[in-house]
Amino acid sequence: MTPLDGKAVSAAIRAELKERAERFFLAHGRRPGLAVVLIGEDPASEIYVRNKIRGCEETGVRSFTYRLPAAAPQEEAEALLARLAGENDVDGILLQLPLPAHLDERKLLSLIPREKDVDGFSAENVGRLALGERCMTACTPLGVMELLHRYRIPVAGKRAVVVGRSNVVGKPMALLLLAENATVTVCHSHTADLKEECRRADILVAAAGRAKLITADMVKEGAVVVDVGTNRDGAGKLCGDVDYESVKEKASYLSPVPGGVGPMTIAMLLSNTCLAAENRCK
Ligand code: NAP
Repeated sequence: MTPLDGKAVSAAIRAELKERAERFFLAHGRRPGLAVVLIGEDPASEIYVRNKIRGCEETGVRSFTYRLPAAAPQEEAEALLARLAGENDVDGILLQLPLPAHLDERKLLSLIPREKDVDGFSAENVGRLALGERCMTACTPLGVMELLHRYRIPVAGKRAVVVGRSNVVGKPMALLLLAENATVTVCHSHTADLKEECRRADILVAAAGRAKLITADMVKEGAVVVDVGTNRDGAGKLCGDVDYESVKEKASYLSPVPGGVGPMTIAMLLSNTCLAAENRCK
């Protein structure tokens, strides 16, 4: 089994992005800019945001962080996003999810202009992805595709199974695999026989958020297994959706957690920010 080393691949991508950001700076006299909006004090979001800001610093992307209290009214969040939409130095806007329950997530995401929507969550970008058009695409599924590409894993004609159908991971993942001509099955909590569905996969992407849901008996010999899950096991240790120790005996490629998809997600966010900056200056 070959581990899909997202840490190493993302380091290579960040080095490429550093050059790209430098070229942008030389051409336009400013750096690509990412605005991160964090509302409330969700501890996991704090960690994600910190990592994203660190990624920006490493690659020469300028980051702007905006914090609003958990009780911030909808109007205040809307006003901030509307302002960032018009800021010239801001190429990408990231609204860190989840939001406090009283806020209207769809409405807020709709205020991020398509060309600055580096998370690819706006209805317009999701629609374009479904139509097979060029668009900003959600960073985690994009990172999974990039990992497959960098390891030269063929996708066309393969049977791909995605476990999970969320708007941020499962659905865009399925659309990206479909766009590259895989035959795609999407599983979820109502799937009648998850094991049988998974056993048919040449490429299995686990994005259910259930610790060690995917066990060796659910994996075809030689399958490529990508683990998106970020969970805690009984001992509080970080683990994926895949039971790594047993599945590694059957898979041809397998991504670890941590060090697999996680670092790729941040690399793709930085890549989308550079792309947004370049597109806006065309
Ligand atoms: P989510 O919104 O909770 O969606 C989970 C999906 O999995 C749902 O579609 C759910 O089905 C399905 N599911 C749950 N239990 C299942 C089961 N036992 N069998 C089959 N399907 C099941 O989660 P998410 O935001 O997509 O994230 C998924 C995981 O990826 C989480 O662990 C999250 O932390 C991780 N993640 C990692 C990164 C990264 O950068 N590494 C980024 C984003 C997310 P229903 O639709 O029927 O409820």
